[in-house]
Amino acid sequence: MTKLVEVNKLYEELAGIVGERFVSNRPEELFLYHWDFVTAEEPGKCDFVVMPGTTEEVRQIVELANREKIPVVPWISGINIGGVCIPRMGGIVVDLRRMNKVLEVNEDDMYAVVEGGITWGDLKGYLLKNHPDLRAGITWSPPGTGVISAYICYGMLDLGMIGGTGAEFINGLEVVLPTGKVVRVGSCMSTDYWYGRQPYPDLAGLFIGWEGTTGIITKAGIKLWPNLPRRDYIVLGKTVDSGVRIFKRLAKAGLGIVDMCFLNFVWLTATQGVRDSENIPYEPEKAGLPDFYGLVTVTGATEKELDAKEETLMKICSEEGEMATRFGDALGLFSENQIGEFLTYTSTPIQLYTVWDFARGGGGEWTGGYVSSKHLVDVYYRMREAAKRHGRRPQFYGRAMFGGHYWIGRMNISFSKNDPQEIQKVRKCLMDMDEEARKVGSFIRYKPPPWAKARNFEKADPNTLELMQKIKKLIDPNGIMNPGQGL
Ligand SMILES: Cc1cc2nc3c(=O)[nH]c(=O)nc-3n(C[C@H](O)[C@H](O)[C@H](O)COP(=O)(O)OP(=O)(O)OC[C@H]3O[C@@H](n4cnc5c(N)ncnc54)[C@H](O)[C@@H]3O)c2cc1C
Repeated sequence: MTKLVEVNKLYEELAGIVGERFVSNRPEELFLYHWDFVTAEEPGKCDFVVMPGTTEEVRQIVELANREKIPVVPWISGINIGGVCIPRMGGIVVDLRRMNKVLEVNEDDMYAVVEGGITWGDLKGYLLKNHPDLRAGITWSPPGTGVISAYICYGMLDLGMIGGTGAEFINGLEVVLPTGKVVRVGSCMSTDYWYGRQPYPDLAGLFIGWEGTTGIITKAGIKLWPNLPRRDYIVLGKTVDSGVRIFKRLAKAGLGIVDMCFLNFVWLTATQGVRDSENIPYEPEKAGLPDFYGLVTVTGATEKELDAKEETLMKICSEEGEMATRFGDALGLFSENQIGEFLTYTSTPIQLYTVWDFARGGGGEWTGGYVSSKHLVDVYYRMREAAKRHGRRPQFYGRAMFGGHYWIGRMNISFSKNDPQEIQKVRKCLMDMDEEARKVGSFIRYKPPPWAKARNFEKADPNTLELMQKIKKLIDPNGIMNPGQGL
């Protein structure tokens, strides 16, 4: 988009749609949209940013972009940590954060209809104030990051054991297609109710797992859950192996656990303010330090029910030769100011992201993916070994999903974004960890940057890939929607 006259004309047209105040092509403002704020990815470049306030405005922006064959990138806060909304081919970034309302809550069917740019802060605040008996599944990401972006990218929530990935929390969608047509999928297609995706063909899949490359979601029906009394436990395991063994038993014990995840020793020390330092052993278990710090959340309608669940949980842990304790009792592990931060885990308005330590310089990126429960432990040791070869002490985080049917594992490397050499080294390390993880056979990256997506597809069935490419072409004939993300 080099000709000034074209830029000016487009600017005028965009301002005509959203109003002068909500369009910009000023470099200092565009700069904020060029990159994923924390990753080792190279920044991109966009020509305009717009902030629409309604579906109709989104529709007109997309129609204009399709007419002019200009890229359009849906964006909420750009902190997905995979670089999946870096504007790689210029064009218009559509910042959706003005579309942040809860439009409806249906208490009978326990769902909310929300706008496409709603953030965790918006959603949680609204529910706490207006529907305290209901809650949403939330991530550990900062309150200013998006709900729909996390759901369509298979994000993990603190109700992951009971409900699966964010994608499984979606009941229905309203989407502006890359041609400017608006569609609704799910029960909302033919009724005023957004209770589910059944029994129509499940077209929501056209917009889930595509990283914003098939349309802009302007509304979504999302599942809510009863906000029951909860108890949180820390499960200590000498090794990741022994901890995961306990989690697998807990998953099959029918305890109605709503969330079950763990951090390794390095991540735990990060929560205590310790940075990547030579004093932290690569293999804590060899130094006699537990390497598995599990967090288990149980809910129940009565104290008696919670007591019974606790008894079973403790019994399983002790049969495996390990120990569990109530969350509050484990806080003695932390210094006084960190206790305040850590308590955010159990208090709903604030999220645990505060304890995620980034090295000075603010960089952090992970190699993360979904994996068979059979291979989770192997993935951990393989990636840890790869990180060790690069001299990095890796933070690991694993979560059992949907009753324990599958798992997610992510190994995070903190780094300084101010040091180009370090960024290069970290990139190499992340790529090697990725290669190692894939050797187990079931590991698939989620929110993958283009290089990782290419690896995902290396062994994919060619007929399925061809089908995906045809679908993409059908939906987005001019290839304008978030291009360069790897398909
Ligand atoms: C400290 C920290 C902790 C985190 N913890 C978690 C966690 O526990 N679980 C988890 O899942 N994630 C986590 N994240 C990742 C991420 O921040 C969240 O998933 C977040 O909710 C999504 O990020 P975002 O809003 O910045 O999305 P963006 O980066 O803005 O968008 C992500 C993708 O969605 C697309 N998109 C966005 N909105 C729309 C729309 N309306 N229609 C179509 N496409 C759209 C974009 O084009 C892009 O491809 C964490 C991040 C940080 C920094």
